[in-house]
Amino acid sequence: MNGKPLPPINPASQPFWDACAQGRLLLQRCGDCGHLQFYPRLLCAACGSRNLEWAQASGRGTVKTFTIIRRAVSAAFEPDAPYAVALVELEEGPTLMSNIIGCDPASVAIGLPVRVAFEGRGEGIAVPQFEPAA
Ligand SMILES: [Zn+2]
Repeated sequence: MNGKPLPPINPASQPFWDACAQGRLLLQRCGDCGHLQFYPRLLCAACGSRNLEWAQASGRGTVKTFTIIRRAVSAAFEPDAPYAVALVELEEGPTLMSNIIGCDPASVAIGLPVRVAFEGRGEGIAVPQFEPAA
């Protein structure tokens, strides 16, 4: 436990967080229209269907845009500052907001290839973060 907040987990997102704890990143795929989505929810954002299944993402993506946080939002994040917060576009299409870790934040750039890395938050919870792809 590092004092960082834990994600709110509900029945719709429980499989996603269970997979993160195992080092796997999941997306939802609509069984009716094929739409892939993140974040987890009860309905397909494209067609409204409840026929959703889980699909494992490659974990690879690129930085779509980012900012550098120099003043942490709370004491738990102060040791990390400065740090990069980015919108990462997964190669499967969906975009998610995350931190870029494992590098100098000044080296983060739009288009940077990244891969998922999971940060343990305690209580069996791991949060997807991204690091530069080798
Ligand atoms: Zn759909």
